[in-house]
Amino acid sequence: MNHDAAVSIARQIADRVLSPAAQRNDKESRFSAEAVAALGPAGLFGVMLPTEVGGAGLGPRTFAAIVAALAEADASVAMVYLMHISATATIAAARPGADVTPTLKEIAAGRYLCTLAFSEAGSRSHFWAPLSRARRHGAGVCLTARKSWVTSAGHANGYVVSSLAPDGRGPTDSTLYLVPADARGLSIAGPWDGLGLRANASAPMSLEECEVPSTQQLTEEGAGFEAMLQVVLPLFNLGSSAVSLGLCRAAVAATATHLKTARFEHLGQSLGESLPTLRAKLATMQIDTDGLAARVDDLVDHLERPRETTMLRVLECKAAAGDAAIAVTSAAMRVCGGAAFSKHMSVERLFRDAHAGAVMAPTGDVLREFIAKAVLGMPLF
Ligand SMILES: Cc1cc2nc3c(=O)[nH]c(=O)nc-3n(C[C@H](O)[C@H](O)[C@H](O)COP(=O)(O)OP(=O)(O)OC[C@H]3O[C@@H](n4cnc5c(N)ncnc54)[C@H](O)[C@@H]3O)c2cc1C
Repeated sequence: MNHDAAVSIARQIADRVLSPAAQRNDKESRFSAEAVAALGPAGLFGVMLPTEVGGAGLGPRTFAAIVAALAEADASVAMVYLMHISATATIAAARPGADVTPTLKEIAAGRYLCTLAFSEAGSRSHFWAPLSRARRHGAGVCLTARKSWVTSAGHANGYVVSSLAPDGRGPTDSTLYLVPADARGLSIAGPWDGLGLRANASAPMSLEECEVPSTQQLTEEGAGFEAMLQVVLPLFNLGSSAVSLGLCRAAVAATATHLKTARFEHLGQSLGESLPTLRAKLATMQIDTDGLAARVDDLVDHLERPRETTMLRVLECKAAAGDAAIAVTSAAMRVCGGAAFSKHMSVERLFRDAHAGAVMAPTGDVLREFIAKAVLGMPLF
């Protein structure tokens, strides 16, 4: 599978599976098992895995394009996919002592969905500082933790879980583990009923004395923080930006359709023909959307050819994308007026979904804090 084929498959699945169900899944806060059943076997679960384990060996460019295409149809599914790819990359980067090849082959075969369980109730959006601490248990560990939000909770086959290393000294001395869904002591701790991304099952999860063998310890002890920064953060921020891009594109398309089809019958004109103010707002939405697309391309380029400015771009892109998605979908709400407000069209779902980007860690505020510190030459942590 090459880049074009992967993106084309994503578009087909978006049209055939995601779009028809997005409204209902949002309303009922229903996780789309159908989307998972379509994306996995089509080869998109292992799109970035090496060919030796059955993956497609493609890079961040393809990942971002797939996520944007999915988000245009249903941002909840795009987020499920983005979390899966971020977790998969962490598993693929596992330390030499870990035995993850069978899992990677299952992922590539489309039979294994995974996700990240980092955020904890106690440290909230500061996902890099878990409060839970792994306890030694034979050659492995026992995990007890309260994970506050886990996308695909109850639907994933495996969870990449962070916890402080048994002998870790500082607040970021964490280790990452792969915990299977059927591990004893792992349970979903509540329902998911969010404002937006309602169909991605981002429920709380609890681990009570979960035994994890050393073969499923993904990082060296205390090296979880480094993996979060080097492996997860670039992909997560790129994917989150691509979700925002898909939302912006969907908002522009829905608004344009509304301006062409809704009419002032007493004037004999469509809204778009009649009102220059609405045309100006649509133009601004288009400019912001294309600006975000250029940012996403720029970040892809920085990840393909890493250089001194790469980490700054990783931080900037998600912060800018979250703001763009909120601005573009807010403008769409204004332009489409009562039709959007009374939920006659998809725009209000896009508007609600767009607000998740700024809340999801690293939040827009935290990213600004890091960016400014980087510009001032201050330590980030
Ligand atoms: C839809 C959705 C899905 C999610 N899925 C997952 C998942 O799969 N895995 C996972 O681990 N987590 C997940 N999360 C959790 C997420 O990443 C955050 O941890 C969580 O949203 C933060 O919650 P909070 O508002 O309670 O954080 P708080 O830390 O209480 O933040 C409150 C406010 O303070 C601001 N703030 C916090 N720290 C700073 C700072 N240093 N400087 C400036 N401002 C600051 C924040 O920006 C925010 O506006 C998900 C969240 C959402 C919304």
